[in-house]
Amino acid sequence: MNRYDVIVIGGGPAGLAAAISADRRGAEVLLIEREARLGGILKQCIHDGFGLVRFGEKLSGPEYVERFIKEFRERRIQSSLLTFVTDMKKTDHGFVLRAVNRSGVHEYEAKALVLATGCRERTAKQVQIHGTRPAGVLTAGTAQHFVNLQGKMPARKCVILGSGDIGLIMARRLTLEGAEVLGVYEVKPTPSGLTRNIVQCLDDYKIPLYLSHTVTRVFGEQRLTAVEVAEVDEQMQPIKSTRKRIACDTLILSVGLIPENEMAEKLGVRLDTKTKGPVCNHRFMTEVEGVFSCGNALHVNDLVDYVSESGELSGTAAAEYAEKMGSTKRREVSLNTDASLQYLVPQKLALSEGLDKVIFYFRSREVLKQGTLVFLVDGKEVFHRKYRNLKPPEMERLELNCTSFGLSDASRIDVQIKKEGDI
Ligand SMILES: Cc1cc2nc3c(=O)[nH]c(=O)nc-3n(C[C@H](O)[C@H](O)[C@H](O)COP(=O)(O)OP(=O)(O)OC[C@H]3O[C@@H](n4cnc5c(N)ncnc54)[C@H](O)[C@@H]3O)c2cc1C
Repeated sequence: MNRYDVIVIGGGPAGLAAAISADRRGAEVLLIEREARLGGILKQCIHDGFGLVRFGEKLSGPEYVERFIKEFRERRIQSSLLTFVTDMKKTDHGFVLRAVNRSGVHEYEAKALVLATGCRERTAKQVQIHGTRPAGVLTAGTAQHFVNLQGKMPARKCVILGSGDIGLIMARRLTLEGAEVLGVYEVKPTPSGLTRNIVQCLDDYKIPLYLSHTVTRVFGEQRLTAVEVAEVDEQMQPIKSTRKRIACDTLILSVGLIPENEMAEKLGVRLDTKTKGPVCNHRFMTEVEGVFSCGNALHVNDLVDYVSESGELSGTAAAEYAEKMGSTKRREVSLNTDASLQYLVPQKLALSEGLDKVIFYFRSREVLKQGTLVFLVDGKEVFHRKYRNLKPPEMERLELNCTSFGLSDASRIDVQIKKEGDI
C-alpha cells in the first residue's frame, strides 16, 4: 500500500492550494482527482473577475487556476487523476482510502486528509416544480459546461430560476451567444448573487430580474415549451391570481450550491446545519482528528481567492499535524452564533494552536446598512467592528488576533451582529 503524510481529495483551487502548502511544509503529498484535468469547476468559468483579491488582477477561471497548476507541477507533487475516492476509514495510524480508476481499485494510507471536494448544485427535485419531465430543464453549471467546454448551445429562449451567481453569469453568457433570456425569477425579495454580477450580467444586458417570483410549473412532452411563473407572498407561497405562462425552450436552475461532503460523512465528520460543511477549528481540522476541510466543501464561498486561502491554511495545518501526530492534546472552545449571523467559519478555536492570526468567514442573515460584529467572552465584549452594507450574498472575511481574549477550556464565546438601533 502507498503511504503518504497528507492526501488531498479534489484538484480544484482549494485542493491545489492545500497540496502546495503541505508540500512547502515538507510533507509527502498525494492529490487525488476524479476528472482528467486539474482545476476543478474553474475549468468551465471562462469569464473574468477571478483573482482580484489575491493577485490584484482580473483573470478568467482557467487563468487563475493555471498559476496553481504550474506551481503544483514545478514542485513535482504526486497526483492521481481520473481516480474516484469511494471509501475512507480511520485506523490507529491515520486513514486508509479506497479509490477506483482505470487500472482497478487501489488503497492508500495517510496520516492526515484534506477534503477539498467542492460543492454541487441544487436541482429541480429540491425546488418542487410541478409538471412533466421534458428535456430543457438544466442547472446553470450544466449549461455552463455545454457552452464553455463543449461549444454547444443548450437554449434559444430561456427563463432562469434563481439569482445565484452562476445563473447571473449564464444569463450574460447565453445572451452573448445569441439566446434570448426572458428573465431571472427569484423567490426571495433580495437577490442571491453578488451586486457586481447583477449589474454586469443583468442590468448591462437589460435582462429583467423579478424578485419575489418563482416558477410553479413546466410544460412540454419531449422538450420544454413553456413555464408558469407567479409572484409569491411573504411566506414565499405563490399567489394564484398572478400566475402567467411564458413560452420558452429552456429553464435554467440557479437555486443554490451545497458543499459536497459524502466522503466526510463516511468518516463520521459532523456537519454544520448552517454551512452544510464540516464543523472545524481555526486550523480547519474537523471534529475527526486528522481530517481537514477547505474551499467550497467547507462552506460555499463567493470569491475563489478565499477558497485558495482556506486551502493553503488547511494544507499547512495538515502537514504540521502529520509531523507531530497525536503528540498534542486537543483543546477547543466553540463559537456560539445567534440568528443575526447566517453562519460563521471556523466554529471553534483550538487553544493548543497559535491564536495570533485567526481568519473568520461570515455572512449576515439580513441586509443591514450598518451593523456591528461583536465577540463576547463569558458575556464580556472583547472585540467589535462596524460594517456598512452587510448582505447575505456577500461573505465577509475578518482576520483577528485572539490571544488577548484570555480564553480557557471553560470559556464561552458568543458572536453576534448588532443592528444600528441595538447598540
Ligand atoms: C457549476 C459551478 C460554477 C461556478 N462558477 C463560478 C464562477 O463563475 N465564478 C466564481 O467565482 N465561482 C464559481 N463557482 C464557485 C466555485 O466552485 C469556487 O469559486 C471554486 O472553484 C471552488 O473551489 P474548490 O476547489 O473548493 O471546488 P471545485 O473547483 O469544485 O473542485 C473540487 C474538485 O474535487 C473533485 N472531487 C470531488 N469529489 C471527489 C472524489 N470523491 N474523488 C476525487 N475527486 C473528487 C472534483 O472533481 C473537483 O475537481 C462555481 C461553482 C459551481 C458548482
